[in-house]
Amino acid sequence: MSFSELGLHADLLRAVTAQGYTTPTPIQQQAIPAVLSGRDLLATAQTGTGKTAGFTLPMLQRLSEGKRPGKRQVRALVLTPTRELAAQVGQSVATYGQHFSMRSHVIFGGVGQQPQVDALKPGLDVLIATPGRLLDLLQQRHVDLSAVEILVLDEADRMLDMGFIHDIKRLLRVMPKQRQNLLFSATFSTEIQGLATQLMDNPAIIEV
Ligand code: AMP
Repeated sequence: MSFSELGLHADLLRAVTAQGYTTPTPIQQQAIPAVLSGRDLLATAQTGTGKTAGFTLPMLQRLSEGKRPGKRQVRALVLTPTRELAAQVGQSVATYGQHFSMRSHVIFGGVGQQPQVDALKPGLDVLIATPGRLLDLLQQRHVDLSAVEILVLDEADRMLDMGFIHDIKRLLRVMPKQRQNLLFSATFSTEIQGLATQLMDNPAIIEV
């Protein structure tokens, strides 16, 4: 199985080849077609399995194919538990999306807020964030999530362990109900099942 057989756009294939990837990992083989089809996805996968490219590549493709709103608005939101993971996902979005004219930015707590406010002002297509800081910026009306089409919860079990569930629920309330949800978790606990049931509509289920 090759990346081109998964139905990825030539510009994404170019970026993948430039990274030196030749074969999609098992999670990529399953996740990429599922996400491209528009379905919700529930994936149990550890770090190191290639999950980041597994959701980033088809997410960028769906955004590039969809209708862009008149003004630049956040159309894809990736929530992560830590700033390190947010930065890593941000790097992947920048790398794989290099041939698309999309703006992305990474937002996390523990650093000054003003540079993040400035980055949000001209509008973003893809926002990668930790829940707490994003909620702060939302409450100050620096960010608008009313046009989110794709929501990714990355390492969802860690976000729950870190007590982010209430922040996540508040964020969910300001997003359109009609959207594609992708949930990645290393474990499939009762809490994760509960979140998935609340969030997902007949998801594709992947375990690697
Ligand atoms: P992740 O599980 O997303 O953190 O990815 C783990 C590592 O695997 C990262 O360093 C990626 O650059 C790398 N990687 C992702 N997909 C592939 C692939 N198809 N072939 C080789 N390396 C990959």
